[in-house]
Amino acid sequence: MHNWINYSVFFLFMLLSRSSVSFVNKVSISSAKMSRRLLTKGSKNKNTNLSAVDKQKQEYFNRPGPWDEKDLGSLLKANKMWTNRMVQQNPDFFEYNKLGHSPKILWIGCSDARVPANLIIGEPPGSIFVHRNIANMVVNTDVNCMSVIQYAVDVLRVKHIIVCGHYDCGGVKASLENIDHTAPLENWLRNIRDTVRLHMDELMTISDPVDRQRKLVEINTIEQCLNIFKTAVVQRRRVETKALIDSGSDEFEFVEPRVHAFVYEPTTGEANKLEVDFKKYLSDLDSVYGIYNMNDVSPTVTDNESEGNDSGGSGKDSPKDAIDKVMNTGPLG
Ligand SMILES: [Zn+2]
Repeated sequence: MHNWINYSVFFLFMLLSRSSVSFVNKVSISSAKMSRRLLTKGSKNKNTNLSAVDKQKQEYFNRPGPWDEKDLGSLLKANKMWTNRMVQQNPDFFEYNKLGHSPKILWIGCSDARVPANLIIGEPPGSIFVHRNIANMVVNTDVNCMSVIQYAVDVLRVKHIIVCGHYDCGGVKASLENIDHTAPLENWLRNIRDTVRLHMDELMTISDPVDRQRKLVEINTIEQCLNIFKTAVVQRRRVETKALIDSGSDEFEFVEPRVHAFVYEPTTGEANKLEVDFKKYLSDLDSVYGIYNMNDVSPTVTDNESEGNDSGGSGKDSPKDAIDKVMNTGPLG
C-alpha cells in the first residue's frame, strides 16, 4: 500500500521532474544524451553501450506505474486505500478537517520528486504549510512565494519557517554551468548564479565538483533563509512578537517566526539542520535590509505597549535599539 502512495507522489511530480530533467540535460552533454535515451519511449535497450549504472537508471526510470494508465484509475484506488487506512487509525481524522487548518510550520522546499515535504518528516496532512519550487528559492519578486509567506505569517501565524535544500539538486547543478537553459528557467537560475557570485571565493576553494555542488546547496539554503528575514512581513511579525514578549505576554515562548535551514540527503533519506549563526548575518545585513522598527508595530501591539511600558519609548530601548534587539535575538536563540 505504501508503494502506491509513493507512486502517487512520484507521479504528481513527474511532470516537474521531467521538465527539470530537461534542464539537467544541459548540465553536461553526456547526461543530456543519457537522459534523452531514458525518457524516450521505445528507445530503451537499443543502446548497448550503456554502463551498468545507466542501465540501472533506465530500468528504474522506466519501471511500470500508474502513470502508464490513460485514466490514472489506480491512483484513485490508492487514494481510497489511503483514506480507509487513515480512518482506521483515527476515525475522526477527516472530521477534523472540517475545522480548517492551522499549521505551525511553513516549509519552503524544492520541487524535486524525491523531497516530498510531509513524507520525509513523517507529518500527516494539516501540520505544515508548503511551498515548493526549483531549488527552494525565496525570490523577492516571486509573487507566489511572497504571497505564501505573507499568508503563513500574517494569517496562519506560523511559528517556524523551514527552508529545506537537498543534495543533488538539479537547479543548483544547473546554476554552476555556463549554459543558457532558456527563459523563464534561466531567469530563475540566475538567482542561484547570484548566490554563486556572492560566495565565489569559498566555492572555488573546493576542487571536487560534487563537493562544490553540495556546498552550494547548503549556501543557497542559508541565503534563502536570509531572504526570508529581509521581507517586511517577517520583520514586522518578529517585532510584534518581541514587543508582546517584552510586555509580559505569555502567549509566545520565542520571537516568531523562527527561520531554520534544513538540508536533505536523497540517497539516505536523512534531513539535518544547518547550524547557522543567523545573529551575525543579520547584524551585518541590518543596516541595509532592516526596514521595521517599533514605530511601525501594528495598532494591536502598540495598544499593549501603551498599557505596559509607555509605547516602548522613554526609559527603555529606542525604536532602533528595540529592532536591533529583535533582529539580533536570532532565529535559533
Ligand atoms: Zn532541487
